[in-house]
Amino acid sequence: MTELLLVEDETTLRETLAYLLTRQGYSVRTASDGAVALTAIAEHQPDLILLDLMLPAVSGTQVCRQVRLTSDVPIIMLTAKNMEGDIVVGLELGADDYVTKPFSTPELLARIRAVLRHRSKTPTGAPAGPIPTGSAPEETLRASGIEMDVERHRLWVDGAEVTMPLREFELLELLLRNAGRVLTRDQLIDRVWGSDYYGDTKTLDVHVRRIRSRIEVDPAQPVRLVTVRGLGYRLED
Ligand code: CA
Repeated sequence: MTELLLVEDETTLRETLAYLLTRQGYSVRTASDGAVALTAIAEHQPDLILLDLMLPAVSGTQVCRQVRLTSDVPIIMLTAKNMEGDIVVGLELGADDYVTKPFSTPELLARIRAVLRHRSKTPTGAPAGPIPTGSAPEETLRASGIEMDVERHRLWVDGAEVTMPLREFELLELLLRNAGRVLTRDQLIDRVWGSDYYGDTKTLDVHVRRIRSRIEVDPAQPVRLVTVRGLGYRLED
């Protein structure tokens, strides 16, 4: 059974959500502040965290930062509309997605499913299946001074190795495979986040910005991963 940790200090919302999610077949643990959440995460290793950003004692963004030091667990932030700055900070700290309050239950469930499905497609940590012996076919993608070893999850920019979180790596892989071609925002979101991804494209923009900070000499004047106005993005060949 999928275990969710719901971190929310508003009692009514926490209890209502816990009830709704339990009815959907999830096992739900709750925490009412950031400190309790961090203890619960360490002790129970949930499969997914729903994280309110406005929390007493330890804020949601602080929880996010702490968790990402040691864990890759999916995090969906629960945020208020006027918290754009915190949303961006949270995404940059490695949260997977966010929903803005008030959100509908179907919307939240769709996001949970999308994030979980994505994770199950891309196992991290434990080796998936037998490790091939001998020389496995190796795939290296190259464009724009970037070299990517897809299998080993390694990346070089102008010959220097750089690290990149999973989601950005996948996004860049998709762009590399289509180097020289424009990919629309919908195509990118579809392929990386899943076709039932709701909501706006801010998440995509943040990920693009994070990629640029690693591959561009001047991220404000991108020459490798360029915006094609009104269409989408292109990685130059
Ligand atoms: Ca709150």
